Amino acid sequence: MAEITRAIRHKRFNFSKDSPVKFVIETKIGSQYTLIPENCSLTGIAGYASQPLSNDEQFDIGDILPAAKIIWEGHEYALGRLVIRNFVKKDEKTTLGFSLVDSKTPIDGPLARYLETPRDEAAVTPYGFELNPDKFSIANFTETNQTNVDLFAKCKQFSIYFNQWEKMPKYQYHTVRTPSMGARVNLTRSRPNGRNDYLVMGSNDYLGLASHPEVIAAARNAIDQYGFGSTGSPLTTGISAAHEELCGFLAKLYGKEKVILYNSGYTANVGFVQGITTAQDLIVADILAHASLQDGMRMSSATSRFFKHNDPKHLEKILSDQRNQYAGALVITEGIFSMDGDVPPLKKIVEIAKKYNARTFVDEAHSLGVIGPNGLGGCEKFGVISDVDVIMGTFSKICGGIGGFIAGNSDVMDWLYWLSRAHMFSVSIPPSTAAAALKALQIFTSDKTLLTNVRRNIRHFVNGLRSLGAPLNPEHESTVVPVVIGDEKKLGQMNQVLIDNGVFVVPIVFPAVSRKTCRFRFTVMATHTISDLDYALSIFEKAMQKADFTFKKNEEQKEALGATGEQGY
Ligand code: PMP
Repeated sequence: MAEITRAIRHKRFNFSKDSPVKFVIETKIGSQYTLIPENCSLTGIAGYASQPLSNDEQFDIGDILPAAKIIWEGHEYALGRLVIRNFVKKDEKTTLGFSLVDSKTPIDGPLARYLETPRDEAAVTPYGFELNPDKFSIANFTETNQTNVDLFAKCKQFSIYFNQWEKMPKYQYHTVRTPSMGARVNLTRSRPNGRNDYLVMGSNDYLGLASHPEVIAAARNAIDQYGFGSTGSPLTTGISAAHEELCGFLAKLYGKEKVILYNSGYTANVGFVQGITTAQDLIVADILAHASLQDGMRMSSATSRFFKHNDPKHLEKILSDQRNQYAGALVITEGIFSMDGDVPPLKKIVEIAKKYNARTFVDEAHSLGVIGPNGLGGCEKFGVISDVDVIMGTFSKICGGIGGFIAGNSDVMDWLYWLSRAHMFSVSIPPSTAAAALKALQIFTSDKTLLTNVRRNIRHFVNGLRSLGAPLNPEHESTVVPVVIGDEKKLGQMNQVLIDNGVFVVPIVFPAVSRKTCRFRFTVMATHTISDLDYALSIFEKAMQKADFTFKKNEEQKEALGATGEQGY
C-alpha cells in the first residue's frame, strides 16, 4: 500500500494489479463505458477499455466527455467532465488518457491503498507534444510530470504555440476598439477596403444601454460627486449612497429582503458559493454552470457534484442518493446558459430542490433584460422568484458595465457580508458604475421598447439563420445565438469572411467548448436595426459558401449542443 501524503499529490501513480477500481465514462451520445484504470495523478487518469469501443463514439483528442466516475468496493466518486488527452488503439486494446475538468482524483482518500509508488518521473518528457495549434490548446501547457523545473518554462513553450495561433484566421481575440460605442464600433484592425468600422454581433451589452446618453450622464455626474473610485471594500470605505440606492432598487425589483454587490458577476458567484458552504455541505450544479460557479465550487470546502445539463431527473437521483449524508445542500443553475442560450426547466428544478431540503441559486447573468414578462429573467419567466432562495445578476449584460449582485433573505446576505471572501477582501465598484447601473435599470424597467426590440431582433436573426439551415429552435429566446460549425478550419475561414466584411463576432473554440462544437456565438442587441441583422445574415451566408459549409441535420446538432462541456464567457 502506498503511503500518500499531501506533499506528493502532484505525482503520477500506477494502479496495483489486483486493484478492484473501475473507471466509468459517459460518452457524448449517452452510452457508458467501463475502463480499467492504469495510472492517475491528481489531475488526470488513464485506462484501457474492457470492451471494444463503438465506432459511433468517434473519440478524439480534445473531446470533452460530460461525466465520469470511479467505483470500487461500494464506493463511488464522481469525477465530472474529462478532456481526452491521449487515444491509443493497439491490437484489441484501446487506452485513453484524460484530464479532469471539474474535480481532482481522490488519490489521498480510500483509493490510496490501490496506488503504487510513482513511476519513474525522469522517463516522462514535459511538454512532449507537437506545438501545433490545430491539435493542441492552452490546456496542454498546464501540466507536467517533472519535478524541479523552471516555473516559467511552460510559458516559453506556450509562446511558440501562441505565436502560431495568433496568425491563424481562427484567432479573433483581444481586438482593440478605438473611441466608439454601441452596435457599430471602430477597431484598430483594418478591413481589406481600408475601413475600420464594424457591426458588433458578439457584445454582452444586450440592450445597448452602455452607450445610452442618460446612463453616461449618470456616470459622469457621480464621478463629479464622488471622484474616480470607490476607495475601499464594502466593509471599509467602499460604499456610497449610490451603491445603497442601487441595492435598494434591485431588492424591490426582485421582491427580496436584501441585495449585496460584488465587483463583478464572476466574484459574486465565486464569493457566494465559497461563502455560504462549509465542509459538511453538498453542492449540486448543472454541468454547464459558468466557470465562476465552478471556481466557487473548487474554492468551497463542500462536496461538489454535477447533474446532467437541464436534467431534473439526474438532479433528483443525486439528491436522493446523497443528500442525507450532508448538512446543508445547494442546487445551482442559470436562467439562460451562456454558450448555448438555452433555458432550464426551473420550476421542476426548484420543486426537486425543495423536496430534498436543498436551497436554490439561479444565475440570471444572461436572462436579466431578456426573458420573463418584465424581463427579470428565468425565475420570473417560470413564476418562481419567491421560491428561488438566491438570485444572482450582473451589470455586464443588462447594461454592458461591470459589477454583480446577489439577492436573497437578509440573514443570508448578512452572513455573506462577513464570510464571503470575494465580498470582504476586494474593492467595491466605483460610485459612478453604481449610479450608471441604477440609471440603466430604471430605463429598462420603465421603457418597454428595449424588451420589445431585443425580442423582435432575436426572432428576426434566429429566423434568418434557420432559413440558412441552422438547426435553431424557432422559439429560441436568448440574445445568445450559438451557431455550431464543428470544424475549426472552416470556423476560421468563415470568420475571415465575416471580419473582412465588417461583422465582428467571436468564434468560440476549445477549451471554452469541445472541439467538435466550436462555434460562432452571435449575440443580438436591442439597438441592432433589422437591416444590421440582414447584413450580418448575408455575410454569414457568403462565409458558408466560401468555406463550403452546410449545417448538419437537427438531431445531430442537438446532440452536439447538450454535450459541449463549456464553461462560458
Ligand atoms: N455568470 C454567467 C452565466 C456568465 O456568463 C458570466 C460571464 N459572462 C458571469 C457569470 C460573470 O459575469 P461578469 O462578466 O459580469 O464578471
